Amino acid sequence: MRVAGFKGLKTERQRRRERSRKGDLPVTAIRRSVLELIMAAARENYPNEWSGQLRAREGVIHEITMLPGTLQGRDSALVNLWMLPIDFSVVGSVHSHPSGNFSPSGADLVFFEKFGSVHIIVGRPYNLRTWQAYDHNGEPMVLEIVD
Ligand SMILES: [Zn+2]
Repeated sequence: MRVAGFKGLKTERQRRRERSRKGDLPVTAIRRSVLELIMAAARENYPNEWSGQLRAREGVIHEITMLPGTLQGRDSALVNLWMLPIDFSVVGSVHSHPSGNFSPSGADLVFFEKFGSVHIIVGRPYNLRTWQAYDHNGEPMVLEIVD
């Protein structure tokens, strides 16, 4: 007896990976716990800028990763993101602005355009009201906070 097509069946994990690779699931939400983690990391690194990568699954940012050896400086936190391994679950970046102004800088806009589809900037004092997500054009976008 032949189990037709069994070998061709894909796991849910593989299917998700393919969907996010195709970019057909726009990021629309972030988990509250991830946002809280971002704020805690930003606070911990004050007065320096802090940065990480955003990972999404089915349109929801569910994890942040930090690159080992990322330099934390007042203006340099984004630099090492260029050295990212190719990882299709990474949808964008997050970084902190110790100044408290969470608008993108000129350098941020250049970076946003080249990498990822969603970028979060958090401003001091790093709470749930002092952050904004931007698309790759630097236009503010709405992310729903989900539990
Ligand atoms: Zn910035």
